[in-house]
Amino acid sequence: MTVSRDTDVVICGAGAAGLTLAVDLARRGVAFRLIDQLAEPFAGSRGKGIQPRTQEVFEDLGIIDRLAAAGGPYPAQRVYRDDGTQDDVQEITIASATVDEPYRAPLMVPQFRTEAILRDRLAAFGHRPDYGTRLTSFADDGAGVTAHVAGEDGAEVIRCRYLVGADGGRSFVRHEMQVGFPGKTLGVRAIVADIVLEGLDRAVWHRFNHGDMTRMMGFCPLPGGELFQLQAPVAFEGDVDLSVGGLQAFVDARLPGGVVRVREVRWASAYAMNARLADRYRVGQVFLVGDAAHIHPPTGGQGLNTSVQDAYNLGWKLAAVLGGAPAALLETYEEERRPVAAGMLGLATGLLEKARQGDMRRGREVHQLDLGYRGSSLALDLAGDGRRVGAGDRMPDAVVRGAGGQERRLFDLLAGPHWTLLVGEGAPAVAPRAGLSVWDVGPAGALRGSVPGLEPGEYMLVRPDGYVGAVVPLAEKERLESYLSGVL
Ligand SMILES: Cc1cc2nc3c(=O)[nH]c(=O)nc-3n(C[C@H](O)[C@H](O)[C@H](O)COP(=O)(O)OP(=O)(O)OC[C@H]3O[C@@H](n4cnc5c(N)ncnc54)[C@H](O)[C@@H]3O)c2cc1C
Repeated sequence: MTVSRDTDVVICGAGAAGLTLAVDLARRGVAFRLIDQLAEPFAGSRGKGIQPRTQEVFEDLGIIDRLAAAGGPYPAQRVYRDDGTQDDVQEITIASATVDEPYRAPLMVPQFRTEAILRDRLAAFGHRPDYGTRLTSFADDGAGVTAHVAGEDGAEVIRCRYLVGADGGRSFVRHEMQVGFPGKTLGVRAIVADIVLEGLDRAVWHRFNHGDMTRMMGFCPLPGGELFQLQAPVAFEGDVDLSVGGLQAFVDARLPGGVVRVREVRWASAYAMNARLADRYRVGQVFLVGDAAHIHPPTGGQGLNTSVQDAYNLGWKLAAVLGGAPAALLETYEEERRPVAAGMLGLATGLLEKARQGDMRRGREVHQLDLGYRGSSLALDLAGDGRRVGAGDRMPDAVVRGAGGQERRLFDLLAGPHWTLLVGEGAPAVAPRAGLSVWDVGPAGALRGSVPGLEPGEYMLVRPDGYVGAVVPLAEKERLESYLSGVL
């Protein structure tokens, strides 16, 4: 029997991107369905690095403390040399928090834990993914999309306004949209496996045969349990035996002497590295997010992070347009996110090349704090003085004091699905409206202290995703009003 249902958004794929989008839509009260063809949640640790900018996103989505409790810092790497010597080195830049950057080091959380925490958050909004439900076809007629899905209970037809393909690197949605996925195969194949082992301590990340691409092998202790993540390049052709016996033989061949004893394999995969970027992120009423739009080597830990941030960019725009904002707002999703992915592809591929030479250092370039949307059609900068924080930039955190005397973190005031208008000293008040939170900042304002980038006599508008939308001097207040009517 075929059942027919209506909703606003169908999200195909309940990985990191689909779950993030679902949480964002749920907290905005948007009706959606989140489907995944897997019978149960994905069990692998693969994307284990949560970068600082993604930690900020997860703070806004209400899960950062649960993630931090489930995860831990990146351990130092113990590099073993062929001559029997070894060194402990920290190749990840770990900086202390500052007021404007509260997260400055990657957090290590196995991907299955991150996704479980996102699912818990979704459950708190009364939603859950529909597992065992596969998108089999869809048709976009301009006004909406008719999606056909197959599940345990039979076939279903879902009518929605928008379909989002969050269905991973081999995206069915991208294929059906006939969107090209140009790029290259990088000639590197690797295994990743979550294993229980004996013989190595859990204080460091063990790297053997460093710098030798044919024998390299790393064992990273995953926080929150007994698992290690084994990563190693393998021959480009041929089968790889990922059973306990197969991995034991693999490890023994690279590390003789029975140093490591593999006891259990919880999840394992062999994959070829690619760098590819979708030609388009949107066709009609259908969008692509996450690995469906971009894939690249895991070096630098960018994939999950970029996927989460795609979803975070799209979520508020979909909600706004479904709520009555001009549909043109949705054009800015591809405009803003595709260049970010293009840059990230170059970064991850460059880091792969360095890793081939044994250089595993990672710095601020992987933190994603410096990414932004300057030059986007949503960035209205009428201050025009090239200041440190301008339209399109990530809004830094700050500590101000409320007129009641208590300290307030700016991020706490920005958190939630709304826009935030900060009104500089001397600029006339602006009336709040649905979806807009207004704060006057100055010696006699509701907020006392200074906010980065805001000068007296100016308005600073911060988007729901924490980027500055507009900086407008009071003389141009009508430009602020027309900006607001284009997004609210
Ligand atoms: C070995 C490895 C190591 C990695 N390390 C890192 C790292 O350190 N840091 C990092 O940031 N990233 C890393 N990544 C990348 C990261 O895992 C991905 O970028 C991330 O999983 C992308 O999330 P996604 O939600 O876009 O796609 P996915 O996680 O692939 O989820 C897609 C979902 O869509 C579902 N689906 C597919 N087709 C259909 C259909 N027709 N109907 C219904 N459901 C469907 C699938 O079942 C799947 O659950 C790594 C990846 C690999 C392979």
